[in-house]
Amino acid sequence: MKYVSTRGEAPAVGFLDAVLSGLAPDGGLYVPETWPTFSPEQIARMAGRPYAEVAAQVIGAFADGELSDEVIADVCSEAYATFSHDAVTPLRQLAPGRFLLELFHGPTLAFKDVAMQLLARLYDHALGRAGRTMTIVCATSGDTGGAAVEAFRGRGNVRIVAMFPDGRISEVQRRFMTTVTDGNVRTLSVAGDFDDCQAILKSLFQDGQFAQAVDLSAVNSINFARIAAQAVYYFTSAVALGAPHRPVSFVIPTGNFGDAFAGYVASRMGLPVERMVVATNSNDIVARAVEDGRYAKGAVTHATQSPAMDIQVSSNFERLYFEGVGRDGIETGRAFRAFAASGAIDVPPKARAEIARLFRGAAVDEAETSRTILATLNATGALVDPHTAVALAGANRIGPAQPTTPVIVLSTAHPAKFPEAVLAAAGVTPEPPAAVTSQASLPERFDPIAADAEAVKAYVREFVKA
Ligand SMILES: *Cc1c(COP(=O)(O)O)cnc(C)c1O
Repeated sequence: MKYVSTRGEAPAVGFLDAVLSGLAPDGGLYVPETWPTFSPEQIARMAGRPYAEVAAQVIGAFADGELSDEVIADVCSEAYATFSHDAVTPLRQLAPGRFLLELFHGPTLAFKDVAMQLLARLYDHALGRAGRTMTIVCATSGDTGGAAVEAFRGRGNVRIVAMFPDGRISEVQRRFMTTVTDGNVRTLSVAGDFDDCQAILKSLFQDGQFAQAVDLSAVNSINFARIAAQAVYYFTSAVALGAPHRPVSFVIPTGNFGDAFAGYVASRMGLPVERMVVATNSNDIVARAVEDGRYAKGAVTHATQSPAMDIQVSSNFERLYFEGVGRDGIETGRAFRAFAASGAIDVPPKARAEIARLFRGAAVDEAETSRTILATLNATGALVDPHTAVALAGANRIGPAQPTTPVIVLSTAHPAKFPEAVLAAAGVTPEPPAAVTSQASLPERFDPIAADAEAVKAYVREFVKA
C-alpha cells in the first residue's frame, strides 16, 4: 500500500515512511492511494472478537506489505493491554437507541491513548529496524501531549518534546506530561494558544535543515497511523450493534477532525455508517464548514471547558476536502495554501455534496455543555466530561436520519480529567481513578517558552545535543 499527499506534489511513500514523517514534503497530508475495503462478511466476522484482533485486521489493511501479520498482531496486543477495560472501548447504553462509546480507559484517560499506544510501538519497531533515532515534537491542546509522553517515555530511539498552551489545559492534563521523569521527555509551556503551538510545529517542519538535523517527526492527528488506529473502534462498536446488517450513526466531539475523519475512513472501508455528526464547542470552524460550505477561521480561539477542541484550524479537514474534490491534489493544494494565506475558503459544490452525504455539524456553547452534563447525570446516572457533553448535545440536536438507527456518541475523556468543569455543571466531583491520584502529588517539570518558532528550535537543538 502506497501513500500519496493531499497536495499531489510529493512522491508516494510506504506506510512506515508516511507514519514516521507525519506531514508530506509538499505540505499536504498522507492518505492511502486507494481505500482498502472489507466485505460485509468480513465485517460481520468482527463481532465478538477481541479488540486487539480487530485492530490488527484494520491496521493490517493499511500496512499491507510492510509489516508481517505477526508484528502487527504483537503491536496491537501490547498496545491494547495497557487499557484498564477488557473490552478496551466498551459501549454503554444511555437510552433506547443511544449509546456512549467509552474511549477513555487508556493510561491517560483520553481517547488519544487508543492511537498513541499503537503509534509508539510502530515507531519503536520501524526505528529499531532502521537503526535510527528521531525527535518527536508535538503540539497539544490538552490530551495529545499526555498520551504521547506516556506512550513514548523510556523508548530508546525516540526523544519527545511536548508543547502545550500555557494556562489553557487542565491540571490533570498537564500533570500527565510534567510529572514524567524519563530522560527522553521534555515539556514546554508556550506563551500562546493551541493554534500558536500548531503554527510553531508547522514552521519547524518547513525548516528543512532543522527538521533533518534533529530527525524531526510529528505524532499530531495528521499522522495517518492515528487515523487508522481510530478507525478500529468505529468497526467494533458498529458490529456490536448489528452492523453490517444495520447501519449506525455516530456523533463525534471534534477539534482537529482526526477522530471524525477516522469514521469517514471506516465508512469508505465498507462499514455502513448512516450519518456522522461533528459536534464542536464554540470553536466551530468544522461544524460551520460542514453546514454552510465555508471553511473559515473565527476571529479568536475561545477558551472553553472542552479545551482539547479549542482549535480554529481543523487540520484533517484537508483530507476530507481532498476526497470531496475527487482526490485532485493540485486543487487541494491551491485551496489550502489560499486558506493559510487568507483564513477562509469556500468548499466547491461537488465537495459539499460528498461531505453532506455523510456529515452534519453542530456547534455547542458553554451553557449548553454544562446543562448537558447535568441533564445526562439526572436522566441516565452517567457522569460525562465536557467533550462528551458537547457530543451529547449535538446528538440531541441532530438525531439519526432514520429514527430506528442506533446513535453512538463518542465519549473521549474520563470526567475526572476535567473535575472543575464537571463539579460546576453537575455539583458532583468525579471519582479520580488511580491514574489521576498517583500523579497528583508528584513534582512537575516543564520549561516556559515564548510563542516563537526560533526559540523552540534552539531548545530542541540543545536537547538533541545533550
Ligand atoms: C483530541 C480530543 C478531541 C478532538 O478530537 P479530534 O480528532 O482533534 O477532532 C475530543 N475530545 C477529547 C477529549 C480530545 O482529547
